[in-house]
Amino acid sequence: MAFESLSDKFQNIFANLKKKGKLNEQDVKLAMREVKLALLEADVNFKVVKRFINDIKERAVGQEVMESLTPGQHVIKIVNEELIKLMGEEKVDLTTSSEPPTIYMMVGLQGAGKTTTTAKLAGMLKKNGKKPLLAACDIYRPAAIKQLQVVGEQVGVPVFTMGDKNKPVNIAKAAIEAAKSNGQNVVIVDTAGRLHIDQDMMDELIEVKEEIRPQEVLLVVDAMTGQDAVNVAENFNEKIGIDGVILTKLDGDTRGGSALSVRAVTDKPIKFACIGEKLTDIEVFHPERMASRILG
Ligand code: GDP
Repeated sequence: MAFESLSDKFQNIFANLKKKGKLNEQDVKLAMREVKLALLEADVNFKVVKRFINDIKERAVGQEVMESLTPGQHVIKIVNEELIKLMGEEKVDLTTSSEPPTIYMMVGLQGAGKTTTTAKLAGMLKKNGKKPLLAACDIYRPAAIKQLQVVGEQVGVPVFTMGDKNKPVNIAKAAIEAAKSNGQNVVIVDTAGRLHIDQDMMDELIEVKEEIRPQEVLLVVDAMTGQDAVNVAENFNEKIGIDGVILTKLDGDTRGGSALSVRAVTDKPIKFACIGEKLTDIEVFHPERMASRILG
């Protein structure tokens, strides 16, 4: 599971703090140094770590903590609160358009898990009583359309395709029209990813976004890629504007850094976490739960 190593380190650091009983400023400083190293090793963005540690130090060396009967516990509580803050405080739900269908546009680099996540999201929305339609707009990757059809079928959600000879923007628009006539109230648009960010991809995504005006642009990023995932998020956010992030592969031995820095860097919420290859392996991202997972 993600965060295992970070979690182990935190537990050691805090066990030592708790053992000490009374703490002085130096104890807190030393512990924070260790927390800082653990976060950097987990591939959390350097600037984010720095700010995080400073915030904790400021609170932890205060009178209230130093004079409390269990200062170690107090410091841990502060770390927990700051971790939650770092990841966005509260969960952020998907918003729904007042005029159906609600359109969600999925974007991301190839291999991030976009197609799988599109189906996971559709399955989840269906379970919540929505009637989704998937739009196959990745016309470049061989077999992308077929893959979407396969996973769509697995979650029992129809897939709209027009093959690979039409422009993605036209496929998306036709899918929205089809949804309107069939009473489907959600359209999830699967767009093309590339191996790396390039101008052509961005131009196409901008064109699709401008034409279909999605309720939300959701960026799928691979948590295993650590700070790269955060850079990708920053880039997509600057170029096309995103409304939320979906982190995939949090089940792997990812060091978890992206979960801890993507929000702080982009100021966009992480909305879902994907935790496996099965199409049910998706959950709403709860900063609080993630923090307790990390603190163990
Ligand atoms: P796309 O190129 O972005 O559309 O990526 P795909 O949806 O084809 O996914 C790429 C690979 O990542 C596939 O083998 C998926 O099964 C796998 N994958 C996607 N999400 C997860 C996840 O949350 N956990 C794990 N372990 N694998 C995932």
